[in-house]
Amino acid sequence: MIFDVLIVGGGVSGMQCALVLGSALTKEYAKGKKVGIIMHQRSSHLQDALFNNVLGLVPGTLGKDILEEGRGQLEELYPEVSQIENEKVIAVFEEENKYKVVTNKKEYYSNNVVIALNYSKPFDIAGLEQYVERHIRANAIKDRIQLRNFNHLIKEGLYVCGTLAGWRSQFAIAAGSGASVATDILTLWNDNVPTKVHDKHKKD
Ligand SMILES: Cc1cc2nc3c(=O)[nH]c(=O)nc-3n(C[C@H](O)[C@H](O)[C@H](O)COP(=O)(O)OP(=O)(O)OC[C@H]3O[C@@H](n4cnc5c(N)ncnc54)[C@H](O)[C@@H]3O)c2cc1C
Repeated sequence: MIFDVLIVGGGVSGMQCALVLGSALTKEYAKGKKVGIIMHQRSSHLQDALFNNVLGLVPGTLGKDILEEGRGQLEELYPEVSQIENEKVIAVFEEENKYKVVTNKKEYYSNNVVIALNYSKPFDIAGLEQYVERHIRANAIKDRIQLRNFNHLIKEGLYVCGTLAGWRSQFAIAAGSGASVATDILTLWNDNVPTKVHDKHKKD
Protein backbone atom coordinates (compact mmCIF):
# COMPACT_ATOMS: atom_id res chain seq x y z
CA MET A 1 0.00 0.00 0.00
CA ILE A 2 1.19 3.52 -0.77
CA PHE A 3 0.20 6.16 1.75
CA ASP A 4 -1.05 9.55 0.68
CA VAL A 5 0.32 11.03 3.89
CA LEU A 6 2.66 9.44 6.41
CA ILE A 7 3.35 11.40 9.60
CA VAL A 8 6.60 10.68 11.43
CA GLY A 9 6.29 11.18 15.20
CA GLY A 10 3.40 10.77 17.64
CA GLY A 11 3.86 13.86 19.82
CA VAL A 12 1.81 17.06 19.94
CA SER A 13 2.21 18.27 16.35
CA GLY A 14 2.12 14.79 14.79
CA MET A 15 -1.05 13.66 16.56
CA GLN A 16 -2.81 16.97 15.92
CA CYS A 17 -1.94 16.71 12.22
CA ALA A 18 -3.30 13.14 12.18
CA LEU A 19 -6.54 14.15 13.92
CA VAL A 20 -7.32 16.90 11.41
CA LEU A 21 -6.49 14.67 8.43
CA GLY A 22 -8.54 11.85 9.95
CA SER A 23 -11.50 14.16 10.43
CA ALA A 24 -11.46 15.03 6.71
CA LEU A 25 -11.52 11.50 5.33
CA THR A 26 -15.29 11.56 4.82
CA LYS A 27 -15.04 14.64 2.59
CA GLU A 28 -15.43 14.04 -1.13
CA TYR A 29 -11.96 15.40 -1.94
CA ALA A 30 -10.33 13.06 0.60
CA LYS A 31 -12.27 9.87 -0.11
CA GLY A 32 -10.00 6.85 -0.23
CA LYS A 33 -6.89 8.73 0.90
CA LYS A 34 -4.53 6.65 3.01
CA VAL A 35 -3.15 8.37 6.08
CA GLY A 36 -0.70 6.85 8.57
CA ILE A 37 1.32 7.93 11.56
CA ILE A 38 4.49 6.36 12.93
CA MET A 39 3.36 6.56 16.55
CA HIS A 40 6.76 6.78 18.23
CA GLN A 41 6.30 8.56 21.59
CA ARG A 42 9.25 7.59 23.76
CA SER A 43 11.19 10.81 23.20
CA SER A 44 8.21 13.20 23.17
CA HIS A 45 8.56 16.35 25.22
CA LEU A 46 5.15 15.45 26.59
CA GLN A 47 6.67 12.64 28.66
CA ASP A 48 7.65 14.95 31.56
CA ALA A 49 5.36 17.91 30.94
CA LEU A 50 2.60 19.28 33.19
CA PHE A 51 0.09 21.70 31.72
CA ASN A 52 -1.65 24.63 33.41
CA ASN A 53 -1.54 27.21 30.62
CA VAL A 54 -3.19 25.51 27.65
CA LEU A 55 -6.71 26.59 26.68
CA GLY A 56 -9.01 23.57 26.71
CA LEU A 57 -6.74 21.36 28.83
CA VAL A 58 -7.79 20.91 32.45
CA PRO A 59 -5.07 22.54 34.61
CA GLY A 60 -2.74 19.88 35.99
CA THR A 61 -3.01 17.65 32.90
CA LEU A 62 0.05 15.45 32.49
CA GLY A 63 1.78 15.17 29.14
CA LYS A 64 2.12 11.41 29.50
CA ASP A 65 -1.66 11.13 29.75
CA ILE A 66 -2.09 13.23 26.58
CA LEU A 67 0.20 10.80 24.75
CA GLU A 68 -2.01 7.88 25.74
CA GLU A 69 -5.34 9.64 25.28
CA GLY A 70 -4.32 11.11 21.90
CA ARG A 71 -3.74 7.62 20.52
CA GLY A 72 -7.12 6.55 21.88
CA GLN A 73 -8.90 9.58 20.41
CA LEU A 74 -7.40 8.93 16.99
CA GLU A 75 -8.23 5.22 17.14
CA GLU A 76 -11.78 5.76 18.33
CA LEU A 77 -12.82 8.65 16.08
CA TYR A 78 -10.73 8.06 12.97
CA PRO A 79 -9.78 4.37 12.82
CA GLU A 80 -9.01 4.72 9.08
CA VAL A 81 -5.77 6.44 10.11
CA SER A 82 -3.15 3.69 10.43
CA GLN A 83 -1.19 3.92 13.66
CA ILE A 84 2.17 2.23 13.26
CA GLU A 85 3.46 1.20 16.66
CA ASN A 86 6.88 0.25 17.99
CA GLU A 87 8.86 1.55 15.04
CA LYS A 88 11.35 4.35 14.73
CA VAL A 89 12.20 6.11 11.49
CA ILE A 90 15.82 5.88 10.43
CA ALA A 91 15.70 7.24 6.87
CA VAL A 92 13.51 9.19 4.44
CA PHE A 93 14.47 9.15 0.77
CA GLU A 94 12.84 10.45 -2.38
CA GLU A 95 12.24 7.64 -4.85
CA GLU A 96 10.31 7.85 -8.12
CA ASN A 97 8.17 10.86 -7.16
CA LYS A 98 7.36 9.34 -3.78
CA TYR A 99 9.04 9.14 -0.41
CA LYS A 100 10.44 5.94 1.01
CA VAL A 101 10.26 5.97 4.81
CA VAL A 102 12.54 3.40 6.39
CA THR A 103 12.03 2.34 10.00
CA ASN A 104 14.05 -0.02 12.17
CA LYS A 105 11.61 -2.77 11.07
CA LYS A 106 9.96 -1.96 7.72
CA GLU A 107 9.76 0.32 4.69
CA TYR A 108 6.79 2.42 3.63
CA TYR A 109 6.01 4.55 0.58
CA SER A 110 4.06 7.78 0.70
CA ASN A 111 3.20 10.67 -1.62
CA ASN A 112 3.52 13.12 1.28
CA VAL A 113 5.59 12.88 4.45
CA VAL A 114 5.20 15.09 7.54
CA ILE A 115 8.20 15.15 9.88
CA ALA A 116 6.89 15.79 13.42
CA LEU A 117 9.97 15.23 15.56
CA ASN A 118 11.00 17.84 18.12
CA TYR A 119 13.86 20.36 18.10
CA SER A 120 16.26 18.29 20.26
CA LYS A 121 19.56 16.90 19.08
CA PRO A 122 20.62 14.42 17.87
CA PHE A 123 18.61 14.35 14.65
CA ASP A 124 19.65 11.16 12.94
CA ILE A 125 17.20 10.49 10.11
CA ALA A 126 19.26 9.75 7.00
CA GLY A 127 18.23 11.59 3.85
CA LEU A 128 17.20 14.77 5.70
CA GLU A 129 20.61 15.91 6.99
CA GLN A 130 20.88 18.65 4.37
CA TYR A 131 17.86 20.45 5.83
CA VAL A 132 19.08 20.59 9.45
CA GLU A 133 19.94 24.08 10.66
CA ARG A 134 20.14 26.09 13.88
CA HIS A 135 16.73 26.79 15.44
CA ILE A 136 15.85 30.42 14.77
CA ARG A 137 13.55 31.02 17.78
CA ALA A 138 15.17 29.07 20.61
CA ASN A 139 17.83 30.21 23.07
CA ALA A 140 21.16 29.63 21.28
CA ILE A 141 22.66 28.18 24.48
CA LYS A 142 20.23 25.24 24.21
CA ASP A 143 21.60 24.29 20.79
CA ARG A 144 18.21 23.40 19.26
CA ILE A 145 17.64 22.53 15.61
CA GLN A 146 15.01 22.94 12.91
CA LEU A 147 14.56 21.70 9.35
CA ARG A 148 14.79 24.42 6.72
CA ASN A 149 11.28 25.11 5.50
CA PHE A 150 8.99 27.77 4.11
CA ASN A 151 5.60 27.75 5.88
CA HIS A 152 6.26 24.12 6.93
CA LEU A 153 7.10 22.97 3.40
CA ILE A 154 10.62 21.59 2.93
CA LYS A 155 10.02 20.62 -0.68
CA GLU A 156 7.11 19.23 -2.66
CA GLY A 157 5.43 16.50 -0.61
CA LEU A 158 7.78 16.89 2.36
CA TYR A 159 6.61 18.89 5.38
CA VAL A 160 7.86 19.58 8.89
CA CYS A 161 5.72 20.68 11.84
CA GLY A 162 6.02 21.46 15.56
CA THR A 163 9.18 22.67 17.24
CA LEU A 164 11.32 21.13 14.48
CA ALA A 165 9.68 23.57 12.05
CA GLY A 166 11.28 26.46 13.96
CA TRP A 167 8.47 27.27 16.38
CA ARG A 168 8.95 27.97 20.08
CA SER A 169 8.13 25.15 22.42
CA GLN A 170 4.55 25.73 23.61
CA PHE A 171 1.86 23.09 23.35
CA ALA A 172 -0.60 25.34 21.50
CA ILE A 173 2.00 26.43 18.95
CA ALA A 174 3.05 22.84 18.21
CA ALA A 175 -0.56 21.68 17.89
CA GLY A 176 -1.40 24.65 15.64
CA SER A 177 1.56 23.86 13.44
CA GLY A 178 0.42 20.24 12.97
CA ALA A 179 -3.12 21.41 12.16
CA SER A 180 -1.74 23.96 9.72
CA VAL A 181 0.15 21.31 7.75
CA ALA A 182 -2.93 19.08 7.71
CA THR A 183 -5.09 21.85 6.21
CA ASP A 184 -2.38 22.69 3.66
CA ILE A 185 -2.49 19.08 2.46
CA LEU A 186 -6.31 19.04 2.48
CA THR A 187 -6.33 22.25 0.43
CA LEU A 188 -4.10 20.58 -2.18
CA TRP A 189 -6.48 17.61 -2.34
CA ASN A 190 -9.34 20.10 -2.72
CA ASP A 191 -7.86 21.42 -5.99
CA ASN A 192 -6.22 24.28 -4.10
CA VAL A 193 -9.52 25.68 -2.84
CA PRO A 194 -8.76 26.59 0.81
CA THR A 195 -10.48 24.20 3.20
CA LYS A 196 -10.71 23.18 6.88
CA VAL A 197 -12.74 20.73 8.96
CA HIS A 198 -15.31 21.97 11.49
CA ASP A 199 -17.92 20.01 13.40
CA LYS A 200 -21.02 21.92 14.42
CA HIS A 201 -23.15 21.71 17.49
CA LYS A 202 -26.77 21.74 16.37
CA LYS A 203 -29.01 23.71 18.71
CA ASP A 204 -32.53 22.38 19.33
C1 LIG B 1 9.20 19.36 31.00
C2 LIG B 1 8.37 20.09 29.97
C3 LIG B 1 7.32 20.89 30.38
C4 LIG B 1 6.54 21.59 29.45
N1 LIG B 1 5.54 22.39 29.90
C5 LIG B 1 4.80 23.10 29.01
C6 LIG B 1 3.77 23.96 29.46
O1 LIG B 1 3.53 24.11 30.66
N2 LIG B 1 3.05 24.64 28.52
C7 LIG B 1 3.28 24.52 27.17
O2 LIG B 1 2.57 25.13 26.38
N3 LIG B 1 4.27 23.71 26.73
C8 LIG B 1 5.03 23.01 27.61
N4 LIG B 1 6.04 22.17 27.15
C9 LIG B 1 6.32 22.14 25.69
C10 LIG B 1 5.50 21.10 24.88
O3 LIG B 1 5.48 19.84 25.51
C11 LIG B 1 6.18 21.02 23.51
O4 LIG B 1 6.16 22.32 22.92
C12 LIG B 1 5.53 20.02 22.56
O5 LIG B 1 5.56 18.73 23.08
C13 LIG B 1 6.28 20.07 21.22
O6 LIG B 1 5.61 19.26 20.31
P1 LIG B 1 6.39 18.60 19.07
O7 LIG B 1 5.37 17.93 18.26
O8 LIG B 1 7.27 19.61 18.45
O9 LIG B 1 7.38 17.52 19.74
P2 LIG B 1 7.05 16.23 20.65
O10 LIG B 1 5.75 16.37 21.36
O11 LIG B 1 8.28 16.01 21.47
O12 LIG B 1 6.88 15.07 19.56
C14 LIG B 1 7.96 14.59 18.80
C15 LIG B 1 7.69 13.10 18.54
O13 LIG B 1 8.63 12.56 17.62
C16 LIG B 1 8.93 11.23 18.04
N5 LIG B 1 10.18 10.78 17.44
C17 LIG B 1 11.44 11.15 17.76
N6 LIG B 1 12.34 10.51 16.98
C18 LIG B 1 11.61 9.74 16.12
C19 LIG B 1 11.96 8.86 15.06
N7 LIG B 1 13.23 8.65 14.70
N8 LIG B 1 10.96 8.23 14.38
C20 LIG B 1 9.65 8.44 14.71
N9 LIG B 1 9.28 9.28 15.72
C21 LIG B 1 10.24 9.92 16.40
C22 LIG B 1 9.00 11.37 19.57
O14 LIG B 1 8.95 10.12 20.24
C23 LIG B 1 7.80 12.26 19.82
O15 LIG B 1 6.62 11.55 20.05
C24 LIG B 1 6.82 21.46 28.07
C25 LIG B 1 7.88 20.64 27.65
C26 LIG B 1 8.65 19.97 28.59
C27 LIG B 1 9.78 19.11 28.11
